[in-house]
Amino acid sequence: MNCPKCGAELPLEASYCPKCGAPRSEIERLLDDAARAARRAVDAGVAAVDRAAKELEPTFNKAFATVRPALDDVARTVKPVADKTVKAAKEVADKTVAVVKPAVAKAAEKTEHVARRVKERAKKSG
Ligand SMILES: [Zn+2]
Repeated sequence: MNCPKCGAELPLEASYCPKCGAPRSEIERLLDDAARAARRAVDAGVAAVDRAAKELEPTFNKAFATVRPALDDVARTVKPVADKTVKAAKEVADKTVAVVKPAVAKAAEKTEHVARRVKERAKKSG
């Protein structure tokens, strides 16, 4: 171990620090003090973290409770937009069908007409 006073390496069983001359009893007292202070600091730190967590918990809960309706609002706001988008897409599809359908029907009618004429001609010549 090292002398807590000057930092010099202490020979095992030395009664005094070879560098600063601090007696072993004083060194041990200093080391005890340091260990106690470290333990106190750790305990205080743990207690502080614990206390902070306990103090922050209602804040987090409150924050979540505050944010929650906002999230619900967002969901409520987004849903009609999503519904509107689906509705708009369906309307476009319906409109496309409405525009295309008569054209397709007309084409079918024309094809039928042509087919009938071809048939009639075939009958006449046949
Ligand atoms: Zn020393």
